Amino acid sequence: MISERIAAVQRRINDACARAGRDPREVTLVAVSKTMANERIVKAHAAGMRHFGENRVQEGIAKIEELSALEGVTWHLIGHLQTNKAKHVARLFDLVHSIDSVRVAEVLSGDLVKREREQDVLLQVNYADESSKFGLEPDAAVDEARRIAALPGLRVRGLMTVAPFVPDPEIVRPVFRGMRELSERVRDAVQGGDGWQLSMGMTDDYPVAIEEGSTILRIGRAIFGERPSA
Ligand SMILES: *Cc1c(COP(=O)(O)O)cnc(C)c1O
Repeated sequence: MISERIAAVQRRINDACARAGRDPREVTLVAVSKTMANERIVKAHAAGMRHFGENRVQEGIAKIEELSALEGVTWHLIGHLQTNKAKHVARLFDLVHSIDSVRVAEVLSGDLVKREREQDVLLQVNYADESSKFGLEPDAAVDEARRIAALPGLRVRGLMTVAPFVPDPEIVRPVFRGMRELSERVRDAVQGGDGWQLSMGMTDDYPVAIEEGSTILRIGRAIFGERPSA
């Protein structure tokens, strides 16, 4: 079941890449496993998934520990990071997508210096200006990215956004296109070279995100099915 869903997602990724003239190997599929039981993650791993995304620090840390026997897994933190949780992530998540303020970047940096560690991060941008979502404002993103990239311990590797939820993904195409342009400006500003990432595209909009240049998709429901309601 999960393996069929993954195969279907991969077909749609390949189709979108073909339309856009892109190589599917440029696009990383992160299976968003938030709220999902460990056994489903094990099944997705057996079906070939190697990247998993969690939106809560505590839940993510528990799964990382419980599933440490799974081989070759990369763990992504995709949800808002509170400053008082920042010290946990430095130890465990391979990529933090959700650095959404200079403040949280400073706290994480301070902890990384103390532990003599480095952490790959993406900067979350609140591109569509929805008051309910976290992220840097697009107009401030280049300046704030410079400040964040100057902090020790943090390696800024790209940008991330959550597009507004709309019935027709064509409506959010301008958001993805604008993010692509902003991403290039930020990359130049912080001298982010090869391997620069643009994390955008979820269950309802990932083909459009691929067409507009996404390099990391964060997909939950299309892989695992509907999440249990809270
Ligand atoms: C839940 C979540 C996703 C995955 O959403 P789906 O619609 O299930 O694909 C992606 N990104 C973030 C930040 C999320 O919280």
